[in-house]
Amino acid sequence: MNLVLLGPPGSGKSTIAKPILTRRHLTLIATGQRLRDEMAAQTPLGLAVESYMERGELAPDHLMEQLIRASLSKLAPDEGFLMDGYPRTTHQALSLETVLAELRRPLTWVITLEVGDDEVVRRLAGRCICNIPGEAPIPMRLDDEQGIRDCIARGGTITRRDDDEPELIRQRLAVYHEQTAPLIAFYQERNLLLPVDAHGPAGEVVARVESALQST
Ligand code: AMP
Repeated sequence: MNLVLLGPPGSGKSTIAKPILTRRHLTLIATGQRLRDEMAAQTPLGLAVESYMERGELAPDHLMEQLIRASLSKLAPDEGFLMDGYPRTTHQALSLETVLAELRRPLTWVITLEVGDDEVVRRLAGRCICNIPGEAPIPMRLDDEQGIRDCIARGGTITRRDDDEPELIRQRLAVYHEQTAPLIAFYQERNLLLPVDAHGPAGEVVARVESALQST
């Protein structure tokens, strides 16, 4: 199974990716997290994308395409993928089609998480991250006092993403509507779209995704 998760920032892509992955033999390809790791390690890629991320803009397509080609080439033949955050432009979607055709690995579904702008702003403004050494960052809510206590008790630290500031949230949403939302029609035309209502608690959204995947 080769899946793409499409949706605005704050639609819950990374939160719901985890349970979907654990039930299947899928590898996560999360471009935003990968770029944040590259920036933290000050690699050439990290340095090249830093200014774009700080402005809430998209990193250049050619850099993203190289990253995706390298990630897909590493997959074992029996290993599927779940993409979180890629593609984000029509150019990236066309390039992904080319790479996947070369690798003879067709997309199975593009799951699109549907949530309104007001809810996105509310979620991103209240979001924080629990960082436990050796584990993937865990998205949390600032008002989840018990979750924050548990994180700290496990040796973790709580941080916020630099781009979750109100100004940058608005900028990222504008970029989504202008550059990424057109991909909904793009994949609809290819009969690959699986729309899912992303309002409500994460567990309910995961259940909706699972039932959409099972009913296909
Ligand atoms: P995310 O964690 O998916 O919200 O991504 C955070 C930031 O990483 C975005 O605002 C972009 O600056 C950059 N980014 C992630 N994925 C892509 C992509 N596919 N194309 C261009 N920039 C990206």
